[in-house]
Amino acid sequence: RSWAESDIPKPILECIDRIGYKDPSPIQRQAIPIGLQNRDIIGIAETGSGKTAAFVIPMLAFISGLPPLTDDNRHLGPFALIMAPTRELAQQIESEARKFASPLGYKCVSIVGGRAVEEQQFNLREGAEIIIATPGRLKDVIERHVLVLSQCRYVVMDEADRMVHLGFEADLTFILDALPSETMQGEDLGEQMDVDGETMIKKGRTRVTTLFSATMPPAVERLARKYLRKPAIITI
Ligand code: AMP
Repeated sequence: RSWAESDIPKPILECIDRIGYKDPSPIQRQAIPIGLQNRDIIGIAETGSGKTAAFVIPMLAFISGLPPLTDDNRHLGPFALIMAPTRELAQQIESEARKFASPLGYKCVSIVGGRAVEEQQFNLREGAEIIIATPGRLKDVIERHVLVLSQCRYVVMDEADRMVHLGFEADLTFILDALPSETMQGEDLGEQMDVDGETMIKKGRTRVTTLFSATMPPAVERLARKYLRKPAIITI
C-alpha cells in the first residue's frame, strides 16, 4: 500500500510528498491506518523503523480535526504530548515532528532536562499544539504551573521500556493522571463502532493514548493496562 491509498488527510499527504518519503515503512503501514481511527496502540518497534512518523502522522490528523489554537484556548495548553526517555531522543522526535507540523502551521516545543526552565517557558508563551518532553522535567513544569495540560487529548509514550528503566514510572503516572481523564463523567461519548470485533468508542473520545516500546517489562504492562483502552498491538 502506498501513501495515497491510505486515509491520511490531503495536507499531510502533501507534506509527506515534499519531505520525500516514497513509501511507508512496515510499522507506518500497520500503525497509521489504526491511528487514524483514533484507536489506542501498543507498538513494539525499534528506533530506525520509522516509528516517529508512524505516531506523528495520526497525531497531526487528530489535531487538524480540532478547532485551532487561539487566544481563547492557548492558556489551556497543547493538544498533544509526546514523552521520551532522554533529551537526545526528544530532540530527534522534535526534528522529525517539525518536518510535518511546521508546514501545517503547528508549533512543537520541547520540555527537557538540562536546559533552563525559563527558556522553555519563553518558548511556550505563544502556545504550542505539540509538546515533546522528558518525564522528569515535564512533571516539574506542571508542578510549577508553567504548563497546563487541560486540553491535551493525544498522548504518545515513546521508548516506554527505557523510560521505566530510567526510573520514570512514577513521573509518567503523575503526568497521565494530570491529563483530562479518558471518559469524563457526563461527557458525550458519541457513537460506538466495531473494530476487529471489539466495540470501541470513536467519536467524542476524550483521549487517545499510544505507547511504543522495544520490550514489554511488567512496569510497561502496568502503564498500558492503566492508561490505554482496548489498544491494538502492533509488532514488526
Ligand atoms: P525513526 O525510527 O522514527 O527514528 O526513523 C528513522 C529514520 O527514517 C528517520 O531519519 C526518518 O526521517 C526516516 N524515515 C521515516 N519514515 C520514512 C519513510 N517512509 N521513508 C524514508 N525514510 C523514512
